[in-house]
Amino acid sequence: MSAKTPVHPNPPPLIYVKGTHREMGRQIGEACRKQVQHSIENGHILLASAYQQLELTWEGAQIQARKYIPFAQERYPQYVEEMQGIAEGANVDFDDLSVINAMEAVTMDALHLTRCTSMAVNDERTADGHVLLAHNEDWVPEDEDDVFVVHATPKHEPPFLAMTYGGLLPNIGFNAYGIAQMCDSVYPNDSRIGTPRIVVSRAVLAARTPDEAIRHMLSAQRAAGYNHVLVHESGELYSVEVSARRFAILYGEDGYIVHTNHYLTPRMQEIEREPEDLVASRIRYFRALRLIKREERHTIKTLQAIQRDHVNYSNSICNHAVDVNDPLDREKTINALVIDLTARQMHIAWGNPCENPYHTYSLQA
Ligand SMILES: [Zn+2]
Repeated sequence: MSAKTPVHPNPPPLIYVKGTHREMGRQIGEACRKQVQHSIENGHILLASAYQQLELTWEGAQIQARKYIPFAQERYPQYVEEMQGIAEGANVDFDDLSVINAMEAVTMDALHLTRCTSMAVNDERTADGHVLLAHNEDWVPEDEDDVFVVHATPKHEPPFLAMTYGGLLPNIGFNAYGIAQMCDSVYPNDSRIGTPRIVVSRAVLAARTPDEAIRHMLSAQRAAGYNHVLVHESGELYSVEVSARRFAILYGEDGYIVHTNHYLTPRMQEIEREPEDLVASRIRYFRALRLIKREERHTIKTLQAIQRDHVNYSNSICNHAVDVNDPLDREKTINALVIDLTARQMHIAWGNPCENPYHTYSLQA
C-alpha cells in the first residue's frame, strides 16, 4: 500500500516574510519561485486533463478569473497586492496566478478535488489543557512538492504561521491573537462571481477575534464558501459552513469538533450539489468523530494517530492516490498538520502522515 507513497526526507521549507502585503508577496514569490511556477504548470495539466468534462482552456480560465478579481480588489485590496507581489517575485503572470487562486471558482467546483479532514479539541479534552487542531490537506499529487510554511509579520496585521503550496494565498494556520483556521471544501449550488473564497479565508488569518473572523467568512459578494473550522485560544470551537448566500454555525459544545467536505446542517444541505458524490466525505467524518470521541484526553500524538487512519482506504482520512490516471479521483493527503494553539506551534508532516515524520514550527511574535 505504501509503494507509491512519496517520502520527504526534509522538512517542508519555512519562509519568513515581513512588511507590506506587496513586500511579503514578493518575498514568498522569490523564495518559492520554483513551487509557484510548478503549481501553474500543474494547473495547465489539470485543466487539460479535465477538458472533456469542463471544455475550459487555460485562456478561458484566465478570462473567468479576471471576472473575480475586481470583487477581491474592492473588498480586500491588500490580498490582491499580496498576489501581485507573489507574481512579481516568482516571475509569473498575474493572470496565471489568478487562475490558481480562483481555480475552484473558474472550474465551478466540477473537479471535486479538495477533500480535507479537520478536527479540533479544547482544554476539556486534552491531557495538558492545550487547545489543539488537526487538518489533513488532500489535493492532487503533483502539488505535493510545492508545500511550504509561511511565517509572516505583516506591517499592519497580526503575525501568523500558515501552510500553503504553490502560488496559493495562505489560509490554513493561526495568528498571534490566538485565532486558528482550517478550511474544507464544500459544494453549494449557489456560487456566483465574487470574491474568491481563498481570498476571504486569507483575511481570516488577520482576525483579532472570533467575531471578526466570522465576518470575513461572510464577506459581502463572496463567490462561494468553505467550511471553516475556527478555533480561539480560549477553547471556543466553531465550524462555520458557508456558501455564496447562506451560512450556518456549529459549536463544539462537548470540547471537540470535526468536519470534512459535506454540510452537516439541514439549512446548508438544502443547497448541496450532488450529495451522493460525497459518500467518502461522510465515511471520513464518522470515522474521525468516533476516534475523537473514543479518547477521553487527547494529545498531539493521539491526533496524529487519527491523521494516519486507513479505514476505507484509499479514500481514508490518510488519503492515498491509487489510480493516478483518473483525473477526477486522484487526490491524496499532501500534508497533515497539528496546531497547538496554546503553544503557538505547528507540527506538520509533508506528504502522507503514515509514511512521513512531523516537523515543528513556532510562531515568534
Ligand atoms: Zn496513509
